[in-house]
Amino acid sequence: MFKKIICITIFCVIACAPSSLKTKSDGAPKIEVIYPGKKQQVNAVDSTFILGNVTPGSKLYINNYRIAVHPEGGFLAFLPLVPVDTGWFVFQLRASNDYGDTTLEWPVKLPEPFKTVPLDSLAILSDFNLPARYQELIAGDLLELSIRGTPLAVAQYKITGLTDWKPMFEISSMIQVPGSETIFGSENLRDSTIGTGVYRAGMFMPSDTALDSADIIFRLCKIVGNSPSDSGLLECVEDTVESILSLKKYDFPQVVELIDSVQTIRHGPRKGYLSIYQPKGVRFIADGKYNNYVRLDLGPGQAAWIPDSSIIYLPEGTPAPYSEVKYIRTFAMDSVTRVSTYLDMMLPYRVEFDPKAGRVGLLVYYVTSDTDWIRYDTDDDLIDYIVWSQPPANVYRLDIQLNENEIWGYDAFYEDNVLNLDLKKAPKEVVNIEDLKFVIDPGHSRDPGSIGPTGLREADANLAISRKLVQLLRDKGAVVAMTRTGNENVELHERPEIAVRENCDIFISVHNNALPDGVNPFENHGTSTYYYHMHSKPLAEHIQRKLVDKLEMGSFGHYHANFAVTRPTQYLSVLVECTFMILPDEEARLRGEEFPKKCAEAILEGIEDYLHSLD
Ligand SMILES: [Zn+2]
Repeated sequence: MFKKIICITIFCVIACAPSSLKTKSDGAPKIEVIYPGKKQQVNAVDSTFILGNVTPGSKLYINNYRIAVHPEGGFLAFLPLVPVDTGWFVFQLRASNDYGDTTLEWPVKLPEPFKTVPLDSLAILSDFNLPARYQELIAGDLLELSIRGTPLAVAQYKITGLTDWKPMFEISSMIQVPGSETIFGSENLRDSTIGTGVYRAGMFMPSDTALDSADIIFRLCKIVGNSPSDSGLLECVEDTVESILSLKKYDFPQVVELIDSVQTIRHGPRKGYLSIYQPKGVRFIADGKYNNYVRLDLGPGQAAWIPDSSIIYLPEGTPAPYSEVKYIRTFAMDSVTRVSTYLDMMLPYRVEFDPKAGRVGLLVYYVTSDTDWIRYDTDDDLIDYIVWSQPPANVYRLDIQLNENEIWGYDAFYEDNVLNLDLKKAPKEVVNIEDLKFVIDPGHSRDPGSIGPTGLREADANLAISRKLVQLLRDKGAVVAMTRTGNENVELHERPEIAVRENCDIFISVHNNALPDGVNPFENHGTSTYYYHMHSKPLAEHIQRKLVDKLEMGSFGHYHANFAVTRPTQYLSVLVECTFMILPDEEARLRGEEFPKKCAEAILEGIEDYLHSLD
């Protein structure tokens, strides 16, 4: 699934080849390759696709395979990558017609093959050492170490100023192989008995030592020589990773503050999101580092990570972030119900929505409950009840039980030290489209997105569908804004900003798809939809169903996907990949009048179905 989803970002950056539909002419055929680029690195191992166009009516062979040519000249082929030692693979294209032959050589770079270390060597492959980057730990932290090198050897590590030589363990079943002759000889080893050459170890950081930029030395040894007289002769190699580890002992909490808004805290350096949209001014306790990421201590057993560029360290002695909560209060407002949590300072939070239970969870970190009062607004009909709890010490949790199973988004923000959570009500009765405000987002603009075999830019295909959708919505009386109306450049981050500014109810981002290298486009295609927050999932499903029906093509699935345009919380947001435009037939359909109209109609009907389902 991940592979499929990254296509959107991967193909957004491929260079835009000149767009030129070939016309029949008197002369040898022309050949244009759209993707992959000449000499580009192709991240595929055994097969990959190539697309482009030739003069219509030509016959095309690539590496002696006959390739179908669309009447408009487009072609797409999925071909084996014959193993080559040089790291290069060459597509040999030959197009022919009545006027002659044209050939084109199109080299691409293949990934470096996975290095296996031969048993008769003695080497540590430094590229695979862990830790790979500077790391700052505190007492009790687990340091994980790993190296790769010659299999079936003896591995050890040493940390300057901290340890003597300590053992590392090879991850393999080879330990069970009986007899050292088998282990140290190279003959007659079955595959299952050959070690992987990956050695690991772990150690807890002690509390009585501090280290500053210590080195870690790895050592790999084996017995050399085959004859009994040689036995016991040990040969070793070492690899030193310099200044990689610090062990800190803090006398004061390291208090940090967010210096910019819309910050994401993650479960690990560059890993999955723990919470999004943390505002400027929120404080944390920091207690570790990995490369340019800072570890935040959110309470027992709960850490988060953030880039060091997003925070400042406050002066030593700054009090640790902390608040008690005495009061919770709700307010019935026009289209939202507000839940206000009264804090002493701005603290990190996380919002969860469970549509099955009709419940919103609000977690606030560094808080101890002193809550005796929850005041409900008598005019509010969205919230049934609110309960607080303190699941782990340090984390305060509100469970907001709704009378409905759906909300149309939420907005969490601070007003001074008051954390407001505005819950947007889903309409209870059938809503007419004319009552709603839409923002339609034709994906890409200056960045062309995917490119079809004959050069159709995704940005243009998306715009054509979006314009039709906007017209259909306006015909129904809806208020509609677009993130772009022509080819003006709109950056990715500006698109959700426009939607928030327009205070829209529903945001639809229109795209067309491509695949990452190595995936077979003849097996993997169809229409697909994407949401990020649970409150947008039902709308995505209804649109997906209508796209499949109306476009009469297979489903490529509907997905939870982490895209910049689907992440905002304040409205329903769905991204649509109408079809795979790298397929010549699909590109031709996108160039026509009928298909973009059908896509737009399917999206509209999906929205209408969803609105009816709320009844
Ligand atoms: Zn796209």
